Amino acid sequence: MQLPGIIIGGGIAGLTAAIALRQRGLAVQVYEAAPHILPVGAGIWMAPNAMQVFDRLGLAERINAGGVPLQAIEIVDGQMRPLLRTDQARIRQRFGYSTTAIRRATLQQILLAELGPAHVQLGKLCTKLTQDAAGVALTFADGSTQRAGFVVGADGIHSPVREHLFPGVRPGGTGHLVWRGMSAVQLTPHYKRAIREAWADGLRFGFSEIADGVVDWFAAVPGTFDDERAGLLARLQAAFQGFAYPVPAILAAANEPAIIRNEVMDIDPLPNWHRGRICLIGDAAHATTPYMGQGGCQAVEDAYALALTLSQQPADPAAAFAAMQRLRRAKAHRIVRTSRLMGHVGYLGGALGSVRNFAMRAAPRWVSEQQFYSVYRLGF
Ligand SMILES: Cc1cc2nc3c(=O)[nH]c(=O)nc-3n(C[C@H](O)[C@H](O)[C@H](O)COP(=O)(O)OP(=O)(O)OC[C@H]3O[C@@H](n4cnc5c(N)ncnc54)[C@H](O)[C@@H]3O)c2cc1C
Repeated sequence: MQLPGIIIGGGIAGLTAAIALRQRGLAVQVYEAAPHILPVGAGIWMAPNAMQVFDRLGLAERINAGGVPLQAIEIVDGQMRPLLRTDQARIRQRFGYSTTAIRRATLQQILLAELGPAHVQLGKLCTKLTQDAAGVALTFADGSTQRAGFVVGADGIHSPVREHLFPGVRPGGTGHLVWRGMSAVQLTPHYKRAIREAWADGLRFGFSEIADGVVDWFAAVPGTFDDERAGLLARLQAAFQGFAYPVPAILAAANEPAIIRNEVMDIDPLPNWHRGRICLIGDAAHATTPYMGQGGCQAVEDAYALALTLSQQPADPAAAFAAMQRLRRAKAHRIVRTSRLMGHVGYLGGALGSVRNFAMRAAPRWVSEQQFYSVYRLGF
């Protein structure tokens, strides 16, 4: 008899993979280290590629209802003048969905409700894996053990499963920090149902509503920024004081103790995401910097591709993992590289920043549109 599969990690990747696998009739359980399913961070933007997957899983309507489907995404300068615009109506026409901004907690609740809590084992920190021809043996920090037909490492950027498969691979830092928060503030209509990311003076500030009167934001600062928690909000307000409305209004309404610190990191593209009966997905396989808002979306794509290939050859996980990697690797790694590049370009200040702004304003719209389309298109 075929042993069931085990997914390590109950983040976006792990929960979505479990839903997709179970919908295709594959027995699988999620083992999550935390005692509760805790959302990391404030809000998240789910782009049309992720929304198309959620549509196939029957979840898109619930996600749109729980969040804010957006009508505009723009990169702007510090005075909120557009550098790059996207036509979300055209994107919706083409892909069926625009980007939805949603609280991470709401997204996790929707995923967990769809999966069913009975399929998630909480408080299970996986500490050891060994595989043989017939299966994988897992040990958890509480002393319990399990055997699985296959294991999916959906255990995030610092993945212990990746360390087991490919020892020594470590995420690399960029020297930049991102501070993230939520503010209770009513924006003027122009700024509602929209993401704007402002680039100026070597800084960037992105924001969007995730519910009526609730704005999710990030403030990205270079490595020289003093990251002491004491007086943090005042220092952020001073750093971004040259930015036009609504940036000062959003910061003024921020809940300072709830501001989250993220070091910006990614992983150099791995030659392989799998070995034998164990495979990596999401940040464990290809963590990317947040500059394209695609890390979670790529995890969602992995989850669906994994369910497709495993359901086609359930008796041969190694072959299914290789097929999944063929479907996903080129795109996921292109996003890691492009997001890194956007990181460098977005932080340019002074004369170089002005050149960048001129080039972005002058670029024909179809060029940027094609770039977005290539990210939003599912290859399976
Ligand atoms: C500032 C910032 C903004 C971002 N914005 C966006 C955005 O707008 N859109 C987007 O798509 N992406 C965004 N991302 C990226 C996104 O947050 C990640 O790509 C996504 O959360 C990865 O999901 P995951 O399930 O792979 O990993 P995680 O969410 O890290 O989940 C891993 C899970 O595994 C568990 N775990 C770890 N080790 C073990 C173990 N040994 N045993 C059991 N369980 C374990 C952890 O507790 C955790 O629950 C952003 C990232 C940052 C830093």
